[in-house]
Amino acid sequence: MRRRLPAAFSTPPLLDHEVRPRNRRRCSALLINPFYPKDPVASFGKHVLTPSLALTSIAGATPSHWEVRYWDENLLQGPPPWNPFPEVVGITVHLTFAERAYELARWYRRWGAKVILGGLHVQSCPDEAAEHADAIAIGEGTQLWPRILADVERGRLQPIYRGSYRQPYADDPRPRRNLLPRESFLTTTSVIATRGCHNRCGFCYLATDSLHMPYQMRHPEQVAAEMLDDDQPYAVFIDNNLGSRPEYLRQLCLALRPIEKIWSAAVTIDVTDDPSLVREMALAGCTGVFVGFESLNEPSLAATRKRTPPPDDYARRVRILHDHGIQVNGSFVLGFDHDRPDVFERTVRWVEEQRLECATFHILTPYPGTPLFRQLESEGRLLHRDWNRYDTAHVVFQPRHMSPEALQAGYAECYRRLFSHRSIWRRRPSDPSAVLPYLAMSYLYKRSNWLWSLLIRTRLTARAWRPLVEITRRRHVHFRKRLGAAAPARRAASVVTSGV
Ligand code: SF4
Repeated sequence: MRRRLPAAFSTPPLLDHEVRPRNRRRCSALLINPFYPKDPVASFGKHVLTPSLALTSIAGATPSHWEVRYWDENLLQGPPPWNPFPEVVGITVHLTFAERAYELARWYRRWGAKVILGGLHVQSCPDEAAEHADAIAIGEGTQLWPRILADVERGRLQPIYRGSYRQPYADDPRPRRNLLPRESFLTTTSVIATRGCHNRCGFCYLATDSLHMPYQMRHPEQVAAEMLDDDQPYAVFIDNNLGSRPEYLRQLCLALRPIEKIWSAAVTIDVTDDPSLVREMALAGCTGVFVGFESLNEPSLAATRKRTPPPDDYARRVRILHDHGIQVNGSFVLGFDHDRPDVFERTVRWVEEQRLECATFHILTPYPGTPLFRQLESEGRLLHRDWNRYDTAHVVFQPRHMSPEALQAGYAECYRRLFSHRSIWRRRPSDPSAVLPYLAMSYLYKRSNWLWSLLIRTRLTARAWRPLVEITRRRHVHFRKRLGAAAPARRAASVVTSGV
């Protein structure tokens, strides 16, 4: 397969340094999701599945007398707008696009906007971010944003605002999805029900030293109402692990069942400990899960301190999900200290044998502030600190049992094989009626990178995907009728309600 990366996917849009913004508007805020380069070996489609919930949540927390706009540079519509020129610019900063975020901050500050930076990278590297901002927000942004805007109005902006993840977020205002260009995403219903995770894997950003994120849950009815409100057939839960508390997930499923939407979510494979919970998920509209298997190698999993069932039980657990009509997108990390050069072949072969409908590969990446970063730094194994390449698509450390080049090539080979005609066909669902939609989705997602820049630029993303989503939804409706008739539904009375 050819790997072409159109300029629109590799280079951020140019900022006009000749322009002199004049039309300044008081009490107007612009929220920006900066451009990040795309991985040429992965699908470009994955960048327009769902919008960032962080910015629409910030927009929801904006006082009503403020005008607020939203701009995602990854939708290929050019640089962010400057006319009318905003009084405040809020930019979300992640490791891999920190440089672009700082470039945007410089541009807007030069013409007098107050620039506020927030996001995960600000949390882990506050001193670095502060150099580029009028103020930084560390912690839960929706709590801080109204305070920040009030201080701007009073002319008393502080350089640093600290929020806590400990406050209940059930009462946070609803995200303002009406700001989004709906046609630019597979679905605008990205939704969150829980925050945090019962695990604290050494490589995960949740293990960042300064991040204290206790596990929180929103009321299931609140989540269901938000999904109904957005009027889309398909929703994506962006929770780190929707299955962290099985009793909560069961109750959430009961709330989602009547609204008849389909949805997908990230879960850990131990969600299959109780197959009746998987059944509840299917009856509630779950058609796909993203499972962080991470590795098929037990010592690697032990080193990450992930609490997970043994890898030799993964196949049985995948079958439980498949038997309930739930597709599995498996996530694998490559480059652990126990990985040897055969890890690539073994992983893809397993993906094919279990007929995972999709898989996502990541090169092990030490995020600043995590135990993994400290370990590799103390062992002198970090190759550089070019954050642009800390994107899980580049090798940034010296692997234990192979060269960086071998790890890089092995990663690319995993995707090449996964996206091959042969592999797509080998992984087709066993239910013949599911094969055609699967093939259509696979070819659009995995083999149409040449088409994605056109679809995204011309805002045809939703239209290209919508027929496939509708076919999936209809199939699911039939499936759940059969599933519901197969055995009496578990009574709501058996649901544990504590802690919600
Ligand atoms: S299970 Fe997933 S979300 Fe939870 S800590 Fe591990 S990698 Fe992070």
